[in-house]
Amino acid sequence: MTEQVPASTLREWTKLLRDGLGLVAPVRVRRKRLKDAWGTCSAVLGDDGRIAYFSIKLDPRLCEGGLFLALVHEMAHAASWGSHNSLDHDVAFGVAYARAFTILSEEA
Ligand SMILES: [Zn+2]
Repeated sequence: MTEQVPASTLREWTKLLRDGLGLVAPVRVRRKRLKDAWGTCSAVLGDDGRIAYFSIKLDPRLCEGGLFLALVHEMAHAASWGSHNSLDHDVAFGVAYARAFTILSEEA
């Protein structure tokens, strides 16, 4: 079992991506053991029906490299949410993924 990535590192990566991608809403990242995926992203709506925040969950069993890729993947969903409002892996997702990967690769 590999050592878990420190919470401070995960916070730093999240901030870099949040600022670099210019998300339309805040993002909350938590580590939670997941059954069918290594990560999930969902948009939580406020009373006004608009996105209040993005909720990203990442499995705590991920090694550092896996956490890096899972966070990039889920943040790309948040960044491209407005273009399709779903979890499609479409072109907008791919563009956002490339941006997110570049941001984190250059800084991490
Ligand atoms: Zn996905």
